[in-house]
Amino acid sequence: MAAETLLVRGGTVVTMDPERRVLRPGYVYVEDGRIADVGTDGRGVKADKVVDALGGVIMPGLICGHTHLYGMALRGAALKIRKPTDFLQNLQRIWWPLDEVLTNEDAYATALAAAMEFALSGTTTFADTYSAPPRPEGSLDSIAAAVNEVGIRGVISFEATERRSVEEGRRGLEENIRFLKKGGEGRVRGMISLHASFTISDELIGRGVEAAEKFSCPITIHVAEGPNDQYHNIERYGVRSVERLRMAGLLSGRAVLAHCVHLTLDEVDILSGTGAHVAHNPMSNMLNAVGVMPLKHMMAKGVNVCLGNDGYVFDMFENMRSCFLLHRLSGRDPAAIQPQTVVEMATVNAAKAYGLHDLGSLEVGKRADIIVVRPEVYATPFSGSVYGYIVNGLKGGDVRTVVVDGEVVMENRRLTRLDVEEASSKVRKTIERLWERLGESPAEAVEPLSLQR
Ligand SMILES: [Zn+2]
Repeated sequence: MAAETLLVRGGTVVTMDPERRVLRPGYVYVEDGRIADVGTDGRGVKADKVVDALGGVIMPGLICGHTHLYGMALRGAALKIRKPTDFLQNLQRIWWPLDEVLTNEDAYATALAAAMEFALSGTTTFADTYSAPPRPEGSLDSIAAAVNEVGIRGVISFEATERRSVEEGRRGLEENIRFLKKGGEGRVRGMISLHASFTISDELIGRGVEAAEKFSCPITIHVAEGPNDQYHNIERYGVRSVERLRMAGLLSGRAVLAHCVHLTLDEVDILSGTGAHVAHNPMSNMLNAVGVMPLKHMMAKGVNVCLGNDGYVFDMFENMRSCFLLHRLSGRDPAAIQPQTVVEMATVNAAKAYGLHDLGSLEVGKRADIIVVRPEVYATPFSGSVYGYIVNGLKGGDVRTVVVDGEVVMENRRLTRLDVEEASSKVRKTIERLWERLGESPAEAVEPLSLQR
């Protein structure tokens, strides 16, 4: 159980507070799961439990703004498929055949593995979208159970899609509503998720928005990850994706749009006036070769952009670094993005996107989600550019201690609530069975450009 009081001291505190204060050395003092004091030095402060950062960085737990925990099932999978040549084929040949066969046992196993990886690499909160159109019922309970075993936080959802039938879309949305009605589970909360505008109708968007308002929760959707999203909306609705979503009533401060790669600057303008947030997934975008989203324009227009992994690499330090490098390279501009901006995307911006107002920074009154990061070869001090150090010089494996809600869930690289070896071997057995079921994928069995009504 959580110690009543906890002191994390002996390192550089990167608060991510509104002034972006960095305290060298600093401390964070926690009472009953909330931050009660943040200051410099801290040698005179007493607490039930003391975590010594040994000169490392003390910062807010990272927040992954868009993930698919079940993406863990694809790691190392040898798929018997024709190789995709564009984004849509990625969905048709890889992701959709996978989500056709997923069971709640798979949802649990992949969530357990992903949550362990998140915890071990300093991510304390994530926003997840799960997909298994034939079997939505109860899946969110399975995911929540796994995440609570590890002890991190999740905002989870079932991805409603009408790619095959309106009925499957209804059942998907219903699973979100069921989980929201029960108020989540432990450290896990619910939200609404719709797949993408080329697989959902305006009616489903309307019902999703209504539910998000009723439960005061976020609503998320994939937008213009590939160009086909735009083709679909232009052909069917006569407008581009962002305009269609605006007309359907989706764009508000509750909405988190994943990707937004193929947006025109006009669409960025529309977005900026709506308060909708964007989840950027640079590593996934590179993996799927879909392109580079207009990050600089979005930020110039004041769009709140957070960082996600899209179910690919679960170490958010790697995702931060990739974001940093991608925009410098693609803009051929070494000043395209600053390290501090990237750290903001994985902390305060993500908290804002999901309405998690008491997370994302180390400030008095906020929930105590804290990580201590110290590289094994601690050869250069943190007295210089700490954001540059975080983005260029740290990795998930350097995270030593993870605190969630004042409870130490990882200490000296060991998870405190469960045995990683034991849990991993349980997951592997489930994944082996899942891979056997995958078999040969019926490629392009679904025609996503025509909503089947
Ligand atoms: Zn995604």
